[in-house]
Amino acid sequence: MVFQAVGKLLGKHKIKKKAPAETEKLYLDPRCTSSRILDADILMLVALPKGVNVDEWLASNASAFYNHISLMYGSISEFCTISSCPTMKAWAIQIQWTDEKGRKRKCSGPQYADYAASIIQKILTDEDLVPTKHCNDFPKAFKPAIQKTFRFLFHLLGHIYTCHFKTVVNLELHPHLNTLYLHLLLFCAEFHLLDSREMALSEDLTTALINSSPCPKASGSNSRNT
Ligand SMILES: [Zn+2]
Repeated sequence: MVFQAVGKLLGKHKIKKKAPAETEKLYLDPRCTSSRILDADILMLVALPKGVNVDEWLASNASAFYNHISLMYGSISEFCTISSCPTMKAWAIQIQWTDEKGRKRKCSGPQYADYAASIIQKILTDEDLVPTKHCNDFPKAFKPAIQKTFRFLFHLLGHIYTCHFKTVVNLELHPHLNTLYLHLLLFCAEFHLLDSREMALSEDLTTALINSSPCPKASGSNSRNT
């Protein structure tokens, strides 16, 4: 059901991408795409549990995804510097930072990660936007803010895949990254959190992960076996 939703969204906006000149995409190697720490339960993890308010579900998942992606980025952050990543590449595009006045600015990978973290924290801790008291309703501004949050998270994952995937493999974190990515993409598809043009940027990876059979050795493993 959600897989179909992803396919539908991706099908709507097929972006003609230039093949990245530099290289083959290591993250599409079947040995990598079959490495995940969990598979069968992702659809259940995504679905809104009965009786739970959808906005609360979106907010709590945004917070959990932010924490996981921060940890993942933290594991490679020493390799993400102004000199290694002078521009913010994610998938086949370069992402510019849009400041509060709507002006687009070039920024490096680590600058983008800092800006994104600061905005996400501001959104998720804003009591007017994300009320934590039971009696308060979520405002209309909540959905656009949460969509913005997921767009940042998607870009950060894109940067890790595009510029730091070899490091992730060396650290044996690619099963975690693949699981995190697929979970986020399916969550965004289910709740319409990412523009379909954005989702099309990583269509090849999404398709490869959906179509690959998880490696039994990777399944359930959360240790760094050598
Ligand atoms: Zn980087």
